[in-house]
Amino acid sequence: MTALLLDGKKLAEKVRSEVTLEVAAFREKHGRAPGLHVVLAGEDPASTVYVRNKEKAALEVGIAGAVHRLPATVTKAELVELIARLNADADVDGILVQLPLPKALSAKDTEEILDLVDPRKDVDGFHPINAGLLASGRPGLVPCTPAGSLRLVDEACVLLGGRSLRGAHAVVVGRSNIVGKPVAQLLLQRDCTVTLAHSRTKDLAAVCATADVLVVAVGRAEMIGGDAVKEGAIVIDVGINRVEPKEPGGKAKLVGDVAFASASERAGAITPVPGGVGPMTIAYLLRNTVFAARRRLGG
Ligand code: NDP
Repeated sequence: MTALLLDGKKLAEKVRSEVTLEVAAFREKHGRAPGLHVVLAGEDPASTVYVRNKEKAALEVGIAGAVHRLPATVTKAELVELIARLNADADVDGILVQLPLPKALSAKDTEEILDLVDPRKDVDGFHPINAGLLASGRPGLVPCTPAGSLRLVDEACVLLGGRSLRGAHAVVVGRSNIVGKPVAQLLLQRDCTVTLAHSRTKDLAAVCATADVLVVAVGRAEMIGGDAVKEGAIVIDVGINRVEPKEPGGKAKLVGDVAFASASERAGAITPVPGGVGPMTIAYLLRNTVFAARRRLGG
């Protein structure tokens, strides 16, 4: 079997055009665009690129807002003050604190800062209140990568002739709070039977080989080979890994957590890396911003 390619770029464009219409309707009703505010502390090169991409995407769909660029020497107190100000500002609908925060801030500091974001403006969906709402099956702000991954699963079901998720066995590899756990919750809400695998899982390949839906979010280049993919499975590869060139002067490349070539020979549908989950993450950030604005103000 040769898998269908799940084109995240194309699907993200579709989501973005839906968001553009929603932004216009919001502006019509409230006399202003939804506002997204991004906090970027320090100069981590990857974060700088991610934030630039988010800013550009927001502008393209008509979302307003700002990037608050702070030096790597920013203190916890200064960040706390900024978040409090954004929480109190009625024109701020979404707040995103780009991670990682500078090294001088501990993991506990990061957690405390994220917990200060008003859950109604938490467009990353990381706040414990939003995590709790998701776990309870109640509406809230859902983390962007998991929401985008689920949309790709839905798209695959359509492309594969109207497959149903009800009763399907979904295996999620990786149990982080920002990807693995919320993906598992979303699949559970769709009546999948969900297995959440992690670094202590025994015989991971055998577990994966039973999955009708396989979502991998680990961060290890091509760790899941084609032999761990069930014939016809829907495979969503969340991992992004930079592989350095083998020869001097060669180019580094990005690969996923799934060995794409061998997995595509068995899967029914599969996401590429890059061009799969990545673009969907940004599209769902925009969607969350409009959702947060409409929920607070109506419309
Ligand atoms: P974390 O490092 O927070 O979590 C990794 C998870 O993988 C952990 O639960 C860990 O298990 C598990 N794991 C590690 N090694 C193994 C192994 N050998 N076998 C099985 N499980 C293992 O990562 P994130 O969830 O933040 O991100 C995962 C990947 O997704 C990364 O490559 C990241 O770059 C990418 N990503 C991509 C996004 C996108 O937009 N496309 C957005 C966010 C992330 P344990 O808990 O036992 O330690």
